Amino acid sequence: RYQSLAYSHILEIHKQHLSPVRTAYFQKPLLLHQGHMEWLFDSDGNRYLDFFSGIVTVSVGHCHPKVNAVAQEQMERLWHTSSIFFHPQMHEYAEKLSALLPEPLKVIFLVNSGSEANDLAMVMARAYSKKTDIISFRGAYHGCSPYTLGLSNVGSFKMELPSGMGCHSTMCPDVFRGPWGGSYCRDSPVQTIRKCSCVPDCCQAKEQYIEQFKDTLNTCVAKSIAGFFAEPIQGVNGVVQYPKGFLKEVFELVRERGGVCIADEVQTGFGRLGSHFWGFQTQDVMPDIVTMAKGIGNGFPMAAVVTTSEIAKSLANCLLHFNTFGGSPLACAIGSAVLEVIKEENMQENSQEVGTYMLLKFANLRDEFDIIGDVRGKGLMVGIEMVQDKRSRRPLPLKEVNQIHEDCKDMGLIMGRGGPFSQTFRIMPPMCVTKPEVDFAVEVFRSVLIQHMERRAK
Ligand code: PMP
Repeated sequence: RYQSLAYSHILEIHKQHLSPVRTAYFQKPLLLHQGHMEWLFDSDGNRYLDFFSGIVTVSVGHCHPKVNAVAQEQMERLWHTSSIFFHPQMHEYAEKLSALLPEPLKVIFLVNSGSEANDLAMVMARAYSKKTDIISFRGAYHGCSPYTLGLSNVGSFKMELPSGMGCHSTMCPDVFRGPWGGSYCRDSPVQTIRKCSCVPDCCQAKEQYIEQFKDTLNTCVAKSIAGFFAEPIQGVNGVVQYPKGFLKEVFELVRERGGVCIADEVQTGFGRLGSHFWGFQTQDVMPDIVTMAKGIGNGFPMAAVVTTSEIAKSLANCLLHFNTFGGSPLACAIGSAVLEVIKEENMQENSQEVGTYMLLKFANLRDEFDIIGDVRGKGLMVGIEMVQDKRSRRPLPLKEVNQIHEDCKDMGLIMGRGGPFSQTFRIMPPMCVTKPEVDFAVEVFRSVLIQHMERRAK
C-alpha cells in the first residue's frame, strides 16, 4: 500500500486550491494510486477494472512495461529541445505515424492536447479555404479552448463569453434519440429493438438529416464554408453512430461548398474500432485533416494534426508557427513505443475480437432489461443507453443512472458516462482487455441491474 495524504486532507486541498468545477465521478471520488494494464488500484488497495481508460486515453494499458521502459530511457537522455532543433525521435515518429495514414495525408504537426490539435485544424481550414464558417454536430465535443468551444456543442461546457464566431451546429444524425428514427441503418452486428414507428424506411432518416445539413450550409456566409468537423463515432455524446454512408454524402456537400473535412480521431483512432486503424476508414471517407490525441501517448500529453502538403502550406503565409512542447523527444519516444506495442501485441485485432464479443454480450443484457434502450458501437467503443422503458425511450433519471454507476464501481468496474442527459454508459477499456475481463464486467453490470430492478419494484 502506498502511503499518501489522508482522504479528508485531499478533499480539503481540492476544495481550497483546485478547480471548483466538479468533474470527478462518484459521490466519493476514487483516490487512485497505481495502474497496471487494464487495472487500477485505489489508496485502500482495492482494484478496479478500468473500462474507461482515463477517458479513452490509456490505449495500450496503464504503465505498459515497454512504454515505461522507453520513457525512462529517453528521460535519461533528453527530455526537451523545442522545435528550433532537430532530434531523431521526432523524425522517426513522423515517419512511423505517416506510414499509418493514406496518401495524401502525410504532413504532421505535433502539439500537446486534443483541443490544441482541433484549434490548429480550424486555423488550417480557414487559412486554406480563405473562408470562415465551420460546421460541427450538436452533441460533439472537440475541446474546451475558446476556439474549440465554438465547435463543442455540449450545453454544459458553454460559458458566458463570446465564442464560436463563425461556428455553426448542425443536427447530429442520432438514429436512436433523434426525431427521425432509423436505427437499422447503422453499421453494427447488433440492432436496436425496433424501428422507430414514424419511419417506415430507415434510409429516409438519413435523407432527412442530409436535407437539414444542406439547410445549415445555406445559413453560412455566401453559402460556403471553411470546414466541417466530425468524430467518426461521437464519444462524449454517448457513442453515437451515424447512418451508413451519411458522412460520405456530407463530405461531398462540404467540398462542393469549398470546405475541407476534418476527422477528429481523438477517441476513435489507433485501432480502437478494431476493423480499421482510423475511425474515418470505417465510414469509407477520406478527410483532408485528421486530428488525434489521447490514445496517441497512452496517457502522456501529446497530440497531432495530419494533413496534405497543400493544406499544410497554407500555414506558411504566417511565416512562423510555433509550439514549445509539441513533438518533444520524450513525447515522440513514447508515441513511437505506443505504435510499436499496438502492432507487436496485435491490439487492433484484439479490439475487433474482444470488442465484438463485448458488444454482443451487452446486447444480450439489452434484451433482458427494459431499462437498456440501446447497445451500440464498434470495437472497444461501446455505448449502453439507459432508458425509463424501451417503449418511451425517455432517458433513465439521472439519480438512477448515478446509482447504477456507483454500484458498478463498488463491485470493481469503472465505466464512463455520456449523452445529453448523462444517460449512456461509455465502455472503452484499454486495448489489451481480455474476454474473461469482459465476462466479469458484464456480470457486474447484470447483477447491479438485477438489484436495481428489485429496488425499483419496491
Ligand atoms: N476531441 C474529442 C473527440 C475529445 O473526446 C476530446 C476530449 N474529451 C477532445 C477533442 C479534446 O481533447 P483534450 O482534452 O486533450 O484537449
